[in-house]
Amino acid sequence: MDFQPVLDDIVSTLKPELGAGKVASYIPALARVSPHQLGIALRTREGAEYCAGDATTLFSIQSVSKVFSLTLAMRNLGEVLWQRMGREPSGNPFNSLVQLEAEHGVPRNPFINAGAIAVADRLVSTCGDGRAEILALLSSLCGEAVAFDEEVAASEAATGFRNIALANFMKGFGNIDNDVAPVLDLYFHQCSVAMNCVQLARAIGYLCNDGAHPLDGSALVSDRQARRINSLMLTCGTYDAAGEFAFRIGLPCKSGVGGGIVAVLPDTLSLCVWSPGLDETGNSLLGMKALEMFVARTGLSVF
Ligand code: GLU
Repeated sequence: MDFQPVLDDIVSTLKPELGAGKVASYIPALARVSPHQLGIALRTREGAEYCAGDATTLFSIQSVSKVFSLTLAMRNLGEVLWQRMGREPSGNPFNSLVQLEAEHGVPRNPFINAGAIAVADRLVSTCGDGRAEILALLSSLCGEAVAFDEEVAASEAATGFRNIALANFMKGFGNIDNDVAPVLDLYFHQCSVAMNCVQLARAIGYLCNDGAHPLDGSALVSDRQARRINSLMLTCGTYDAAGEFAFRIGLPCKSGVGGGIVAVLPDTLSLCVWSPGLDETGNSLLGMKALEMFVARTGLSVF
């Protein structure tokens, strides 16, 4: 199937709406990003790539990084990872402390902030330098060198009071083994990674390929682990809008406050859309519309 006309049509149809939504404003580096941008990239399991709009503009991947840190932790730890976190949607805001108290410091899932911080703790324990490992993984998956945006990482650290609280709160329950400083440093850095749609559509390709590396075909995770990551993306990947995403789009997705969303059609293709304006749930407004249009135009969805 030639996806180019589909992607071109999505970008031109949404053009009149560019600027809609609200750009994340909790740090200056995100607040100054123009909302008048929309990119989309697609990669088939066989490696054909298509893109349209601002698909090669770098943006802050933010919570999209949680898929890749989870992947590393699942690979490094196997089943014991799940002693430290659950896999249920939280129904609470992504940075909520409330549920953690009732659940003795065990986060509901790896995609809320508490869960991603617990994942970072496991990486600090198992890789030594989690920062190097995350960059190496992302660079290898997309075949290009990717880097942290140190300005974003520093701002995340300077304003991350809730994340600092979450880490300390979990440590109080014994669910963080390391000092909170290196754990948070890894978390703030993984959020700061700058990538574009083409790179992310390629990087997430192992999730439509039974866990095999998109470029060299080696086993990154097992097919069962890839299925589990996809199921977590479907149920927990888009803040409090996972039900709405499943209803309107029906693809495992993971979004970030930088406006990026990655999406996977298992065994078939991976996608990344980016537009910085967010809706009230924190998901990219036009990104979600673009995915909805993609599914409507192609009939491709897991359902
Ligand atoms: N880096 C931000 C935080 O941890 C937001 C991450 C996101 O949800 O994209 O609070």
